[in-house]
Amino acid sequence: MQKRTRIERCARCGKYVGDLADEKWCANCAAEYQEQVERVENTILNEGLTVLTRIAERTGLTEDTVRHILKDTKSLAQRVEVEFPCARCRQKPAQPGSDYCLNCRMDLDQALGEAAAQLADDVTPEPVDPPASKPVDNVEAAVENKRKRTSITRMYPRRQRFK
Ligand SMILES: [Zn+2]
Ligand SMILES: [Zn+2]
Repeated sequence: MQKRTRIERCARCGKYVGDLADEKWCANCAAEYQEQVERVENTILNEGLTVLTRIAERTGLTEDTVRHILKDTKSLAQRVEVEFPCARCRQKPAQPGSDYCLNCRMDLDQALGEAAAQLADDVTPEPVDPPASKPVDNVEAAVENKRKRTSITRMYPRRQRFK
């Protein structure tokens, strides 16, 4: 590619700079951008943020800048949820911080609310007692307990006979 040798304007800050060669930006802007990319990268990779708005908050960059960086850096974009399609309908983009789009979230919230209400009606939690502390509360259990005790005592004379 032929090297350009005219005075050019930085596409980012608009300053007239010398020969930009094949770059669109001046050295300052390129360095600044690189620094911003690293900030976003650190927030995503080291701090585990995956929501665009929170990444912007954390890095102090605008959402547009973060979006631009993500567009340039596919390996980072993959980790940011705003890029994912809705896990339910696969049509609309998922909302930040969610796997679902707004419509699906409202559908799911409603379904979840109904299911929760039904669960509360159906299930009466049974108190769980350890068997040892459970009082004998019916005849059958009493008989069963007696039988166990009897069979143990019945074994004793036999053992003694073998001695
Ligand atoms: Zn510049
Ligand atoms: Zn959806």
